[in-house]
Amino acid sequence: MQDSRSESPEAGAGPRPHVLVLGTGGTIAGVAPVANTATGAGYTAGVLGVDRLLASAPGVEQHARLEFAQLCNIDSKDAGPGLWLELARAVRAWRERAGSAGCVITHGSDTLEESAYALDCLLEPGSPVVLTAAMLPSAALSADGPRNLFDAVRVAADPAAAGRGVLCVAHGRVHAALDVSKQHPARIDAFGSGERGPLGFIGAGGLRFTREQPRHAPCAFASSPLSAQDARWPRVELVCSHAGADGEMVRALLAASAAGTLRPRLRALVVLGTGSGTVHEQLQAALDQAAQAGVRVQVVPRTGPCEGGEFDGLNAVKVRVRLLLEALQDPRQDGQQPQQ
Ligand code: ASP
Repeated sequence: MQDSRSESPEAGAGPRPHVLVLGTGGTIAGVAPVANTATGAGYTAGVLGVDRLLASAPGVEQHARLEFAQLCNIDSKDAGPGLWLELARAVRAWRERAGSAGCVITHGSDTLEESAYALDCLLEPGSPVVLTAAMLPSAALSADGPRNLFDAVRVAADPAAAGRGVLCVAHGRVHAALDVSKQHPARIDAFGSGERGPLGFIGAGGLRFTREQPRHAPCAFASSPLSAQDARWPRVELVCSHAGADGEMVRALLAASAAGTLRPRLRALVVLGTGSGTVHEQLQAALDQAAQAGVRVQVVPRTGPCEGGEFDGLNAVKVRVRLLLEALQDPRQDGQQPQQ
């Protein structure tokens, strides 16, 4: 928390909530070549600092007293699980600060759902934690970043958003970490919550929650210590069942893992199954071998989120997040130092 934004006069009566804004990069912090500034074509993600992003959202300080810190400035396609721990540590430390309110995280849209869900697992449902992103870089015509950041701060400053788990705010919608996913590669309204729909909306009329999030089981990780330097990430891979899926890739992983040439060793496989979670018979034979070798095999439907059971509502990448965090708690772990 090396930086802090200077205060400006309050818009309303009473003290403004104290909100932390953590910058991690993404298109919201992206910059396009001068010739393409208006269209944003050919931009580079993760360039501008979070201070510049806040400066592009005039009036935001009327809703909160802001403090900010830059954790990294990357394209979120390059994010690693070490970032989840770093963010969770920063949020936990913020929550311990006297008088602190919510926290906003600016993030790339590509892997936002993974970070949001990981944080949902790693944090108690307490003061609001709100991830936001943008689909257009900072100076493009109709750039969505300033508005999304503005809205995210308003949600993070609002006590009505507390206790609902980690949230994502984009395009005027408030999504639950459990449900949200990036559902379009380019559209401004790229984020959706599937059949459940958003939790609520943020707009000129303020913050409005339109449904409750079903309570999920208390998360075993929310109270666990987060010593990133000790974290050894296991290997959890995604494979897909498809026409002609013969399982050879799984056998190659198993062989390399057994030979010690694949480090860390394979701990679990998330399998995108056809239909409701069926698997090509040849791939299934390889998965049976994996299970016999002690690799956890979890099949999820490739058609959408899991329905019912332990992973209800989670898509494949979030199931992978869950298995990674579970394996991290396992003393038999055989992993590697986390990457940013
Ligand atoms: N590649 C970018 C990122 O995830 C995309 C974005 O932010 O919209 O960082």
